[in-house]
Amino acid sequence: MTHRDDSHTRAARMARLACRIRACRACALHRTRQHALAGEGSVSARIFLVALGPGAREDREGRMFVGPSGRVLDELLAAAGLERHRVFMSNLVKCRLPGNREPAEREVRTCGRHLAAEFRLVAPRVIVPLGFIATRAVFRMLALPPLTRAAFGGACGRIVSAHERKIVPLRHPSALLHGSRLKSAMLGNYARLVSC
Ligand code: SF4
Repeated sequence: MTHRDDSHTRAARMARLACRIRACRACALHRTRQHALAGEGSVSARIFLVALGPGAREDREGRMFVGPSGRVLDELLAAAGLERHRVFMSNLVKCRLPGNREPAEREVRTCGRHLAAEFRLVAPRVIVPLGFIATRAVFRMLALPPLTRAAFGGACGRIVSAHERKIVPLRHPSALLHGSRLKSAMLGNYARLVSC
């Protein structure tokens, strides 16, 4: 099978997975969502971003990072010489969390099956969890040592190796929506993706 055939096959399998995600009712979050968001981007991407869940606008429009955080994400990716279409982006929890609350353990476990399926199809070399909760969950999925909230700041931008992959925790772009105190550190950390 050529690389091109392989990409087409994976794209077709990803499209079927996306249909299953959009129709999913495996946990109670389906009752309050407008859209369940499947991952978006290149199925051949080297880099896979994992955010926490859809924001209000993402839930309304059914697309990843279309709200204010998306504009910040584009700027941060540009610092790494990247554009959205060259990465794959998905959420830990595919349906909106009412009131932006943290997901319950069972919601992460239940929805984690979709994320694990996306990981298998894309087979990225670099996984980039955005924010503490996504990072804690990705570490758990990959059987890495548990991460505390207090240790998260120090873990940002550091490369952790796991199962022939690199894990690079980063702050979520929304951290810059209410002030620019973290901006230069975040630009520097996102720029490290260039060398991964
Ligand atoms: S949050 Fe995940 S598991 Fe729950 S209904 Fe939505 S897609 Fe399904």
